[in-house]
Amino acid sequence: VHTLRLILGDQLNAQHSWFKSKDDGVLYVMMEIRQETDYVLHHQQKLLAFFTAMENFSQALRQAGHRVHYQYLTDTDNQQSIGKNLQALLGQYPNAQLQCQLADEYRVDHYLRSWAGEQNISIEWFDSEHFLTPRDALKRYFPDSDNYLMENFYRQVRRQFDILMEADKPLGGRWNFDAENRKKIAANADIPQPLLFANNAEAAAERLRKAEVKHFGAADSSALLWPVNRKQSRELLQYFCRHCLANFGRYQDTMTEQSWSLYHSRLSFALNSKMLSPLEVVNTAIEHWHDNSAINLAQIEGFVRQIIGWREFIRAMYWHHMPDYQKQNFFNHTRPLPHYFWDADTKMQCLKRAISQSLEYAYAHHIQRLMVTGNFALIAGIDPDPLDDWYLGIYIDALQWVELPNTRGMSQFADGGLLATKPYAASSNYIQKMGHYCNNCYYQQRQKVGAKACPFNSLYWHFIHRHRPALQSNHRMSMMYSVWDKKTDDERQQLLDQAERYLQQLDDL
Ligand code: FAD
Repeated sequence: VHTLRLILGDQLNAQHSWFKSKDDGVLYVMMEIRQETDYVLHHQQKLLAFFTAMENFSQALRQAGHRVHYQYLTDTDNQQSIGKNLQALLGQYPNAQLQCQLADEYRVDHYLRSWAGEQNISIEWFDSEHFLTPRDALKRYFPDSDNYLMENFYRQVRRQFDILMEADKPLGGRWNFDAENRKKIAANADIPQPLLFANNAEAAAERLRKAEVKHFGAADSSALLWPVNRKQSRELLQYFCRHCLANFGRYQDTMTEQSWSLYHSRLSFALNSKMLSPLEVVNTAIEHWHDNSAINLAQIEGFVRQIIGWREFIRAMYWHHMPDYQKQNFFNHTRPLPHYFWDADTKMQCLKRAISQSLEYAYAHHIQRLMVTGNFALIAGIDPDPLDDWYLGIYIDALQWVELPNTRGMSQFADGGLLATKPYAASSNYIQKMGHYCNNCYYQQRQKVGAKACPFNSLYWHFIHRHRPALQSNHRMSMMYSVWDKKTDDERQQLLDQAERYLQQLDDL
């Protein structure tokens, strides 16, 4: 063996140039380790999906004629850390060169570099050949600015990769079709059933049991619903393009009790584990748009924007601002995370639904994450540290590079506005306007004060009021301050008293 090539659990990219040729002197190394199962409390489905997908990937490599060293969690010689396991292998193959693909999480990248430095081991680094843009994309695209907007970034990427372009103009003459999208869905709409797989993950479940790895959430390990290989990932992509893409943008921001994923693609796990590449996803969706007149430009643009805009931008922001980003707490929020984030036992129907489906499927769609759980945590003043851990643990797609900027930045404004131009704080009006949860709620959506007043209403105004010094100069907030100022003293006091009562008994809501 002259080369050891490490493949991390989120580097399952079968198209990587590493695999273009076969060489018996190259040993691919994959490992299931406590270092990765225990850095945060994970949803059981997330652990099962990663381990099963990793194992499948290793088998596919072997079938293609590559040599693979796969360490199971319960192997007796598994030392449960990347460094120790690699060191043992380097002991076995003392002349081997270690090669790694750039890790996407700062945690892992930093660990590998410090470990190699301490041990005096040289690592040859390779790109993961997954993203369209490099880690330092912000500096490269906007060398003269430190104020980064997703919209500008997205336009650059579209131009550079010639996606939905007509010469140098956006197809249809506009970059953004958001105004035509984002409708509330009818209560009786006929929504396609999500395509679910039934993967056998019993062996991985047994290893987790044997190793006594702590986890939470539901899982049927005999029928894991997430894609765990490339074939299934592609099937999910096809299913999305056929059945969901025509309504993707239109119902992107809506919420309903009829469906847990609506017209969303649920491709985030396949993408983040790199079983699918973003360019492949976008190109496939565009082919379907060409072939299917039911998919209009606003829908395909809305989807392309998520993948080559938001996803790439979030990653670029992460690498630009780490490691400081993970400590930011602009509003100094310190309240503990209420128990219902873990058990969904709350009278607030929107939170109950968003959290219970997260516990059941390890999934919530963007608006549930942003405008239900995230919004509530923001206006209630929850400490972003435990909140980050919760988002990082519960979702099937959660890796720090994408979870952290979405949580700290977009949803909690804990970065003081590096990512979002204003806090995504909203009262129950938004939740009612975009969905159907309020109809079945214990609380009265329109009531602002009183025993059954929806907590989102007074907490929203409490948030606006308590953060006035930090927010009033933000011109996107000025309308809310003028609404607040037009209320009578008595109205304002009642709202603040109501919010204080709720904050005192946050765990009982
Ligand atoms: P779709 O709605 O079908 O969108 C298609 C794809 O676009 C997604 O698969 C995803 O790859 C990409 N995308 C869309 N929005 C974003 C975004 N804001 N940031 C990055 N990519 C995006 N996404 C993760 O992949 N991992 C996370 O850990 C994660 N944590 C989040 C935490 C919070 C508080 C919020 C508000 C959002 C988070 N997101 C995260 C972004 C987004 O909610 C998920 O990507 C999306 O819900 C995944 O479901 P989907 O595949 O059905 O997405």
